[in-house]
Amino acid sequence: MSSRKGTYIVIEGVDGAGKDTQEEFLKEILPADTVYTREPRGTQIGVVLRDVITGNELDPITEILLFYAARKELMNRVIIPALAEGKTVVSNRNELTTYAYQIHARERHDLEHLADYLSNTVLGEMQPDFCLFYDIPVEIRKERLEQRSDNINSFDHFDASFFERARDGYKEHIQKLPHAIIDASGTIEEVKEKSLQALGEFLRT
Ligand code: ADP
Ligand code: MG
Repeated sequence: MSSRKGTYIVIEGVDGAGKDTQEEFLKEILPADTVYTREPRGTQIGVVLRDVITGNELDPITEILLFYAARKELMNRVIIPALAEGKTVVSNRNELTTYAYQIHARERHDLEHLADYLSNTVLGEMQPDFCLFYDIPVEIRKERLEQRSDNINSFDHFDASFFERARDGYKEHIQKLPHAIIDASGTIEEVKEKSLQALGEFLRT
C-alpha cells in the first residue's frame, strides 16, 4: 500500500505459546515509538466484538465475519494510521488466527474460501511485512497454562488434537508471508534469544 511507510510485524502462536512474554522483549530492539496492538482487542469495537464472540454460541460463519469486522476497524483506526506516520506496528495476532482456529482446528475447511474472500476484500494489501510464529508442542502448552490460573479463554477446554490442528494450520498459512518460526519450547531466555535473533535479521534486511 502506497501510504505504508512503517513496518507491520505480527506475532502469532497458539494461546500459551509465549506471545505476550516475548512481546515485551521485542521492545529492546524496536524503535521507541513502535505501536503495540492486538487482535481482536486493539480497539473498543474489537473488545465488544470479542465479548459477543466468546459470550454466545455463534454460527461459525458469524464468528469469522465478526473477527474480520474487528480486524477492519483495527486496520483503519490503529494500524494504517501508524504505518502512514512511518511507525513500526506490532500486532499480537492477525488473520492467521482465523485460519488456525476457525478453519483448521475446527475442521471447517469448507469455510476457507470465505476467509480467503474476506482476506482479499477486507484486508487487501494490508498484510504483515514479517510474522514471528512462536511454535510450541501441545503438551508443553498445557503444562504452562495449568500453572496460569487467570486469563483462561473459551478455547482452552478443547483437547490436544484441537491445538495440534491449529498449530498445523499456522504452519501451512504462514507460508504466505515473510516469517520466522521460533521454537518456543525452551526457557523464556532461550526463546528470547531466538526471537530477537530472527527479528534482528529481518530488521537488518
Ligand atoms: P500467550 O500470550 O502466547 O498466550 P504467554 O506469554 O501469556 O503466552 O505465556 C503463557 C504462560 O506461560 C504464562 O504464564 C507465561 O508466564 C508462561 N511462559 C511463557 N513463556 C514461557 C517459557 N518459555 N517457559 C515457561 N513458561 C513460559
Ligand atoms: Mg497472550
